Amino acid sequence: SRKDSKLKTKPSHKKISNSKSCNIRVVVRLRGPNAKERAAKSLNVVYIPENSTKEIKIINEAYDRREPPFFRFDQVFGPQATQSEIFDTVVSPILDEVLLGFNCTVFAYGQTGTGKTYTMEGDLSSEDGELNYKSGIIPRTLHELFKRLGDDHNKYTVRLSMLELYNEEVGDLLSLGDSVPKLTLNIDASSKLQIQGMEEILIEDTASGIALLQSGSSKRHTAATNCNQKSSRSHCIFTITVRIKESNFEGQDLLKEGKLYLVDLAGSEDTKMSGAINQQAREAGLINTSLLSLGRVITNLVAREESNAPIHIPYRESKLTRILQDSLGGQTKTCIIATISPAKISLEETVSTLKYATKAMKITNTPVSNQK
Ligand code: ADP
Repeated sequence: SRKDSKLKTKPSHKKISNSKSCNIRVVVRLRGPNAKERAAKSLNVVYIPENSTKEIKIINEAYDRREPPFFRFDQVFGPQATQSEIFDTVVSPILDEVLLGFNCTVFAYGQTGTGKTYTMEGDLSSEDGELNYKSGIIPRTLHELFKRLGDDHNKYTVRLSMLELYNEEVGDLLSLGDSVPKLTLNIDASSKLQIQGMEEILIEDTASGIALLQSGSSKRHTAATNCNQKSSRSHCIFTITVRIKESNFEGQDLLKEGKLYLVDLAGSEDTKMSGAINQQAREAGLINTSLLSLGRVITNLVAREESNAPIHIPYRESKLTRILQDSLGGQTKTCIIATISPAKISLEETVSTLKYATKAMKITNTPVSNQK
């Protein structure tokens, strides 16, 4: 029978679109034109073709370059897509994994003003933890999490932390008081990363989770007004850690822990600074080390999944990738939500966002038309 199984094994290059091994999902959210774009009478040049759920197209005249004027992703959402639709299709399946004890990450990536924070947080006003039409991914995740965990609080714990990463410095957005204390990263005796002094707050319901998010979020923005454009240049990492107690069939207690990182990344316009090495820009903190490293980590993860070669993943290059190391790659599920504007005035940034997002797509996901 060993011979049989050998005969049945297909050559690996025929394994196209093996969804089992595809752990990075890339979706795009295209918003409608905003007031500024309408005032500038900027044309809408980016659109989703009729009946398509996977393609983003750019009007040819607006984009007369050598590249084909369309991009393909796992899924695309247009201006009509609701917050609840995004949650249900993108985040809910990831929450399933977290409840099974896996670590997962959802990123919002895109130019400033395209809807990253709207997608992640949305409208945070809430009464008793109730959601509204504009509630974003984080409030919806908390709501769904407590719904699924049920009323028996002896069976689980939910803890939250919220960090800001600015210029490779980690700040704690959940510390008491108005300050955002700086934290250091250490490696403990068992080689695990520790974030020294980080607040991890135990919550028992959605309402307290939303309240913490509100407070952390407002600290991020208060700090930003004191520092030129800081909020668009900082990353926000909101972490939900779920521990579930279960008994196995012999009556022994088992502890299952899963983590979900919900990350609102710095404005993607920051990656533009990467071109020539510019010492001045570097010193002024104008190079977003974490954003660039994340790109390299993801590109290498994709390449490694594709080729099965022992490709090095440069997690240690930045604070962001160090913090997320245990939830990027391997058994974990990752979703990148790339947010874009439809307007001609943003086209250059939009194309660069779409290219960054394309690098995260498995090559085997692209259609191999008419190829046998
Ligand atoms: P970013 O975090 O990418 O800088 P924001 O989330 O702050 O962008 O969005 C900028 C503005 O556009 C906000 O006023 C937000 O409410 C609005 N906005 C963004 N995306 C949408 C959307 N899909 N639907 C409605 N309003 C949106």
